[in-house]
Amino acid sequence: MTLDAAIEVRDLTKSYRNGLLRRRFEALRGVSLRVERGEIFGLLGPNGAGKTTLIKVLLGIVRRSGGSASLLGRAAGDRLGRMKVGYLPENLRIANHHTALTALEYYGKLSGLSWQEIKSERFRLLESVGLADRTRESVKKFSKGMLQRLGLAQALLHDPELLILDEPTDGLDPVGRSHVRNVLMRLKAQGKTIFLNSHLLQEVELICDRVAILDRGLVKVAGNVHELAGEQTEGVELELVVAASDDVVRASLGARDVASCHPNRDGTVRVVLQLADQAAVDQCIDDLRSSGVSIVGLSRRRVTLEDAFLKLFAEDARTVG
Ligand code: ATP
Repeated sequence: MTLDAAIEVRDLTKSYRNGLLRRRFEALRGVSLRVERGEIFGLLGPNGAGKTTLIKVLLGIVRRSGGSASLLGRAAGDRLGRMKVGYLPENLRIANHHTALTALEYYGKLSGLSWQEIKSERFRLLESVGLADRTRESVKKFSKGMLQRLGLAQALLHDPELLILDEPTDGLDPVGRSHVRNVLMRLKAQGKTIFLNSHLLQEVELICDRVAILDRGLVKVAGNVHELAGEQTEGVELELVVAASDDVVRASLGARDVASCHPNRDGTVRVVLQLADQAAVDQCIDDLRSSGVSIVGLSRRRVTLEDAFLKLFAEDARTVG
């Protein structure tokens, strides 16, 4: 028996009506994607691309205009399906009179959990998100990062199979982000599926198996994070630190594509080159050496997801411009 996908979206559309004239605006224009069970999937895209709208349709918060969407084999918005889903909204507002513990009691009851179930889980969960020593403190005193972690505990309370997280590490400091990453990796190890929307591409690259990049209501590209980064660049980006003046370096490199060439404080020069292939790398080293340039450091620059993302949208800007 094959299991249904964690999330399956086909030709999904969503139009909003705006303004006095009720003009139609298409926030989603035919999105298709599939998230397998057990993976961490990142939803990326510039502001206004339609990410939150897609999440809201999946959760049944807004109604789709066309196409189909299902979660764990049930239609998006279905009440039984929704009980297997944990959700962390972008700006979860927790009423000021709560402590971390009473907030979990409140959200647990809303999810239909019994007092016994809430009681047996709440301390363990607060510990897992790093709030073990703040359990009885008023959330009024919580920083944005602490509220975010409490929100994550709230999303996990009913032990959901699928987690949908809107900007889970927004507002967290580096230690807090690493903490949340570890929590998400532990959940993945337990077989949970995580679907997250984030603008922090370094974070996404560290934890996501696959991503989809939305642009103006459509999936622009989708795939494995590392393949995507590789796909968006041709050739090799080489970074060299050489002991020579930048004039000598430029003269020995000739007409090669020098992305940058800056002197360092210690008298060396840092050069970044765009080269076609390994043969071009070898030739470049030969030329520098035969001009008497001493190579102090050499590294092949890794293309990050952020590089790939910026390149993808820079190409569009050029086409439009
Ligand atoms: P961000 O990264 O800024 O959070 P997003 O990718 O989540 O953006 P959405 O919030 O889904 O984007 O919005 C997509 C488009 O739909 C935007 O142009 C937005 O103005 C529009 N939109 C969103 N909600 C509504 C609404 N309730 N009524 C009308 N238009 C809306």
